[in-house]
Amino acid sequence: MQFKYEYILVRYGELTTKGKNRRDFTSKLSRNIRNALKEFTALEYKITYDRLYIILNGEDQDAIVPILSQIYGLASFSLAAKVDSNIDAIVETAFNMVKHEDASKTFKVLTRRRYKPFAHRSDEINRLVATKILQETELKVDVRNYDIGIIVEVEEQQSYIMAQVYPGAGGYPTGISGKAHLLLSGGIDSPVAAALMQKRGLFVEAVHFASPPYTSPESLSKVMRLADKLTVNQKHLRVFIVPFTKLQLAIYDNVDESYAITIMRRMMFRISEALAIRQKSLALVSGESLGQVASQTVENISVINDVVKMPVFRPLIGSDKLEIIDHSKRLDTYDISIEPYDDACTIFTPKNPVTKPKLDMCETYEAKFDWQTLVDECIENVEIKTLRFNEKLDEQEDIF
Ligand code: ATP
Ligand code: MG
Repeated sequence: MQFKYEYILVRYGELTTKGKNRRDFTSKLSRNIRNALKEFTALEYKITYDRLYIILNGEDQDAIVPILSQIYGLASFSLAAKVDSNIDAIVETAFNMVKHEDASKTFKVLTRRRYKPFAHRSDEINRLVATKILQETELKVDVRNYDIGIIVEVEEQQSYIMAQVYPGAGGYPTGISGKAHLLLSGGIDSPVAAALMQKRGLFVEAVHFASPPYTSPESLSKVMRLADKLTVNQKHLRVFIVPFTKLQLAIYDNVDESYAITIMRRMMFRISEALAIRQKSLALVSGESLGQVASQTVENISVINDVVKMPVFRPLIGSDKLEIIDHSKRLDTYDISIEPYDDACTIFTPKNPVTKPKLDMCETYEAKFDWQTLVDECIENVEIKTLRFNEKLDEQEDIF
């Protein structure tokens, strides 16, 4: 029988600040954890200066561990038992925790006496715990390469005993750094870009450009499923679905084919910035990576960037495709991203997209049609879907 723990002890992540910032960090982190674990209704939480304790009250520890390891702002966490600070209770509980472990495993006991007047010194506690385990199980001690690190933390009234440290996702709690609008396609890159910014504390809202009937309902469902993978760190994630067909067709009627992608991306940025301003976001996020495709040359990025004032974060700008793919597998978005449904970009792909566009040429092409009215129409007719972690996605049929 597996040992049933009573607590999870959470160690905070990259925390260099003090005072109010520290309180903001810990309260945001605990809110994000509560949100991700909201289905486990019996859990209780206790925040202290350097730790957060989750009291399990019988909830399923094995279901909680994989969710907790995705939460940004956590350095690490451990399942813990809490006992009275008395040496017999400590020894007995540590023994019960490991007695069913495979006999071939090795262990080490690491005691930290946070309450110095405790009657036994740390090395004495280590020895007493180890002796009991060595006498009553087949487990062996190995102080260098141990399989099980038994951690005993002695406080004045109670002590915590843990048998494993799980690594946390690191970073800052999502939402602590404000909010940005993410340009979310159905590709591999943009979900990864989103995750990297969430990890730096940014709350994201997603903007997706859809061009029905040239883009299919399956392609939209793919984008929604990608967005859903980004919900674990946010209370909710809104997807702004922009009906882009009319504007896209107008671009192809008025702009030389070689410039069509560049102009299209200028329109995407204009619309995204307008939506961001309305929702009080201060930045845009995109999945561009330098040189990856023709529209991601420095020249293209420069003329595309020219249409917006707010900062555009491109966290993948210096990443290799293979690194991005690795990350997308860890995020569990890769298999969705590689489904073969075209998004707005790929369907209209010209044969020879310009790699060194000129700003005045962009402006000349744009002067040929009333794009502003079409941009305004896109903004007026945007459809908003709100996603929440572990809640079923709505039926998507009625979007257009
Ligand atoms: P991705 O894998 O993220 O689709 P990509 O390598 O296919 O990127 P592009 O198609 O040039 O490259 O897109 C670059 C970035 O522009 C994307 O990462 C995304 O941020 C944004 N983008 C592209 N198409 C769309 C779309 N239909 N809706 C929203 N954003 C888009
Ligand atoms: Mg793409």
